[in-house]
Amino acid sequence: MIVIYDTLTKQKRPFEPLEKGKIKMYVCGMTVYDYCHIGHARVMVAFDVILRYLRFKGYEVTYVRNITDIDDKIIARAKEQHQTVFELTKRFIDALQEDEKKLKVLPPTSAPRATDWISSMIQMITTLIEKGHAYLSSTGDVNYAVQTFKEYGKLSHKHLEDLQAGARVDVNEEKRSPLDFVLWKQAKPDEPAWLSPWGEGRPGWHIECSAMSTAELGEHIDIHGGGFDLQFPHHENEIAQTEAATGKPFVNTWMHVGFVNVNEEKMSKSLGNFFTIRDVLTVYPAEVVRYFLLSSHYRSPINYSTETLNNAKAALSRLYLALRDLNIRLSSKPAGDYESRFTDKMDDDFNTPEALAVLFELAREINQAKSEGKTAQAETLASELKRLGALLGLLEQDPAAFLQGEVKGLSSDEIEHLIQERHLARDAKEWSRADAIRTQLSDGGVILEDKDGKTTWRRQ
Ligand SMILES: [Zn+2]
Repeated sequence: MIVIYDTLTKQKRPFEPLEKGKIKMYVCGMTVYDYCHIGHARVMVAFDVILRYLRFKGYEVTYVRNITDIDDKIIARAKEQHQTVFELTKRFIDALQEDEKKLKVLPPTSAPRATDWISSMIQMITTLIEKGHAYLSSTGDVNYAVQTFKEYGKLSHKHLEDLQAGARVDVNEEKRSPLDFVLWKQAKPDEPAWLSPWGEGRPGWHIECSAMSTAELGEHIDIHGGGFDLQFPHHENEIAQTEAATGKPFVNTWMHVGFVNVNEEKMSKSLGNFFTIRDVLTVYPAEVVRYFLLSSHYRSPINYSTETLNNAKAALSRLYLALRDLNIRLSSKPAGDYESRFTDKMDDDFNTPEALAVLFELAREINQAKSEGKTAQAETLASELKRLGALLGLLEQDPAAFLQGEVKGLSSDEIEHLIQERHLARDAKEWSRADAIRTQLSDGGVILEDKDGKTTWRRQ
């Protein structure tokens, strides 16, 4: 029996799917106006392991992770870069998929884009207006009337009265209450817009997830997840929208993934301690990053620093060292009680650090067998280590390849030439070509730094 911590009830509860053997899981995905950072990587990898593990336990999991491809930040960034919204979002969706692949994150069953589901959003907003939970304001926006949903605050454990007392009133927004949030935004000139019963406009962020989750998975789902910071207001608003529209409970288990701190400080653009996945992958192999993200429990904060990443690299190397020089044939036969010890830890709210500790005990036994010349025994145990590692998306490389690191030599002339080509591609606004060159260089261990229109480079 798997137990999962539920944010709403604040307790670990035995997990029972709504329909026997099947799980419906929705995770809030990225807003695609920039490259994904290491915090996004953590959410991706955490739910990837949850997905792999639930499938290993025999469940048929439908995993939906949306893409927010229309929003204020996207519109602003597209203007800044003289691209259309579509060009910009396509570029960053491609980049997101590349990052995922490198981190061995399995693709979700479905990755709906908000702009493909506008009619479902309009439908839900219409229902909310009909039921008296939403209203058209004098500015032409449709807002959700938070006071009409008595249970507002139940997920984040906030009280409606306290929230109201603390809320500021923005005089420009014609809202009945300062807590009310927008469901449909009236179009501004030169912005992408869709036709609706309330004129041309576009959806607010929160309604996207309610509509896409309901359309793809049904009104009541097993698991809804996301980053820790989404609890309020995003998930609180999703509950208010969906439950008011359907009159049913929305989600059985709410799961939230902790923050990534950098050198013990919160990661933020203003502090300048902000790392994109691709920056990190120029310095560390993707599997090391994945190991690092799994070395803490998904709900705890995790600290990104040179030290913690180097520790992750050393730890993963120890596991690969145990596997090296053995002829491993993957067998499905469990060796010893390692599998049951591993699953005991994973059944307990996906406790990956403790599951990894079981893998280290296994590695120790392999090393012991090797040193005693018991090769057959070492190989059987190594097969078990690889099998259990794969459940975490780890240890799937050839040990020698991992331990030697990838040696791809680029000469200085070749690097200069590629940087020149990248400049030309950027001048011609061939962004995907320019990005591909950057990736090629970073794969070759070359770090680019763009400053004042000039590019300098260094090797790792
Ligand atoms: Zn969402």
